[in-house]
This record gives sequence, C-alpha cells and structure tokens, in this order.
Amino acid sequence: MTLPDMHSAEAIPAAARTEIDRLLQSGDLFRYTAAKDAPVSLLEAEFAELMGSRFALAVSSCSAALFLALKALDLPRDARVLIPGFTFAAVPSAVIHAECLPILCEVGENYRIDLGDFTAKLPGADAVIISHMRGHTSDMDAIMALCDTTDVPVIEDAAHSLGTTWNGAKIGTIGRVGCFSFQSYKMINAGEGGILITDDADLVARAVIMSGAYEHNWQKHPVLRDAFAVHQNRLPLYNLRMSNLSAAVIRPQLPHLARRVVDGRRNHDHVAELLSVSASIHVPNPLPGEVRAPDSIQFNLMNMSDSEVHSFVAGAAAAGVKVQVFGMSSDNARAFWNWQFVPDLPDLPRTRAMLMRACDVRLPVHLPAETLNAVADVILQAIDHATRPARAFGR
Ligand SMILES: *Cc1c(COP(=O)(O)O)cnc(C)c1O
Repeated sequence: MTLPDMHSAEAIPAAARTEIDRLLQSGDLFRYTAAKDAPVSLLEAEFAELMGSRFALAVSSCSAALFLALKALDLPRDARVLIPGFTFAAVPSAVIHAECLPILCEVGENYRIDLGDFTAKLPGADAVIISHMRGHTSDMDAIMALCDTTDVPVIEDAAHSLGTTWNGAKIGTIGRVGCFSFQSYKMINAGEGGILITDDADLVARAVIMSGAYEHNWQKHPVLRDAFAVHQNRLPLYNLRMSNLSAAVIRPQLPHLARRVVDGRRNHDHVAELLSVSASIHVPNPLPGEVRAPDSIQFNLMNMSDSEVHSFVAGAAAAGVKVQVFGMSSDNARAFWNWQFVPDLPDLPRTRAMLMRACDVRLPVHLPAETLNAVADVILQAIDHATRPARAFGR
C-alpha cells in the first residue's frame, strides 16, 4: 500500500470556520480590542480549566512561553538553567534568549533524564527546565523532591506532552510553570502558538505584561489586581501575543483532545508491539506512573553498526517511512552537539550514545490500523534487509 504523508494533520473542526468568518467580517483580530470575551481570553479560561490550573497565558509559541517563564522568574543575567541534553534546540535557545546559561544534563537510553547527573548538576542551577521530550516523562517525583529541597524553580516544557499524566497529575501542572505548543506537529494544531499555565499570580502577572499587555490591557486578564499594580511600567514588553485567529483554530480542538490522546496511545502501543518481534529493536517502557499521549514512536536500534543503521534508514525511506536517527541525520536540531550557540557545550557520552541509535517515526493519531501495520512492516523489513547480508556473509 502507499503510505500517507506522515506529516498530515487531522482536519480542523468545522466550528472554527464560522468563528474565523466572524472575525474576518469584523476585522477583530487583536486580542485586546474587544472589551471582553476575545477568543484568546476564552481560550485561556478554557485551557486553565482543562488543566485544573489557576492561570493561563496564550502566546505566539511554546518557545515564547519558555522564554517568558524564565523572564517571569526574574532570574539574574547569566543565571544557570539546567536542561536535558536531549530536547529540541528551541529549549537552549529560550535560555540564551533570556540571557541565561544552559547547563546540559545527561539523558538515558530510555529518553528520560539521568537522575544521577541531574542530582550532581542541580546544586549549581538557578532554575530547571524539564523537557518531556517526545512526551517521555522523567521521574517527576524525584525531580520535584530534589528541586523543592533546594528551592530551585521548575519549568515544564510540555510542548509535546499535552494529555500525558504522571501518577494522576497532568503534565505541565507539576512544576511552577508549564509550557505547551500548538505548532502543527503537536496534539493541538494551530500552525503556531503556545500557552503557559501556572498557579502563581505574581509570576503570571509578570508574564502577561511582558507578553505585550501594554498600558492597562492586563485588566482583561482575570488575575489579582495587586500583582499587576506592582509591575506596571517596570517590565519590558516583548510582544509575544497570540492572535484571535489562532485561538479560533485552537478552541474547537480542545474537546477532541481526550480522544486524540487515547487514539495516539493505542496506535503507539500497537506499533510498539509489532516492532517488539525484532531483536534489533528496543522500545523503552514508560515509567510506572506515566500514562503517555504519543503522536510518534521512538525506539533504539540494538547491536547494529553505523552502516547497518544507514542502510536501515535508506531502506525504510525507499519504502515510504521516514525514520530519523536523531544523532545520525545531519544538523539535527535535537542533537546537542548542533547547539553551537551554547557557550562551553559539554560532551554527554550517555546522551550521545543514545542519540546515535534512537529512531523517531511520526504516527499522527488519525492513522488507521492498516496504515500502522504497513508502517511496522516497512520498518521490520528494512531492519531485516539492513542486518541480513552482513550476517549471511559473516560465516
Ligand atoms: C515543539 C517543541 C518545542 C517548541 O515549540 P514551538 O511552539 O514550536 O516553539 C519545544 N520543546 C519541545 C519538547 C517540543 O517538542
């Protein structure tokens, strides 16, 4: 069968059209024009309620949310921010943008933070960003216990984790701030967009102002007035607001989230099961306590040489499945050695070894079972092909 475009997205619910048409008719695209109930404000209220957090601030991207979260923590210049060595380049970039220094921590072959290295590096850190990379959750109980004792604030980069839970708690609500993405490859698709959530009134007041709520626009945010009065005219305006058009695309998708999460997990687990017959493939298990919301699958190639890995990737591509080995594809934005804008980039041998064998395959949640079976077939055949000749000639 011909495989579909693995970057295809689900159609945006029809309700978005009516609302976008209304906005286009009225020209009311700026979030602060309407006296109240602007689509962006309604999105913030609905998202906060969905997550069970006190406050939400919608912005232009998850990167913007991470940047504002760091600024809202009021960290001094050159503050040290501990981040995982396996994440998207946007994370160290947000740290640099906030004039802080990223400190990279090792990540294990299960894609989760290496707690030994984390514990060793935490004493030098002023803040922590936990990136739940590709939705893989690190041990948040251990991390919060360590950070709470040392009073280090935790920002959760939950860009790719909307819908994941950890011991019943929603990912993004565990740290001081949670940041999410609405970029097209995430669970809710507006092309671009992000949102941060927190229970901290002072922190959100600062973030709201810096996001571009100039003059008294903060009055359109349901936050304690005292918190705003303190910060009026004292903070820079970075103008990272969300447009009403984006909110109109996002809001009708929120009721679909629960279904997408269930479908994504079912699809992932189905493909993981099919792949597990191969001795060359290892799909790491989630941690106990973690209920995932995946829209892609990651697995490690076991006991394969570099040339076998290359031949596997080429074989799968020829049969229509794009497999990305994070550390093998050139200029990959998730390989830490490509973050050359970070001063004193360390070597992280464990993370590097993982990246050289960790594969990434998108599994959009709307794929039907026969497509998932075909994707798994392609992968298994490509593995077989890549590993067979060497072994046949070897004896
Ligand atoms: C997508 C992603 C980001 C960046 O999100 P944007 O909205 O594109 O800025 C950051 N971190 C992780 C883990 C991501 O997957």
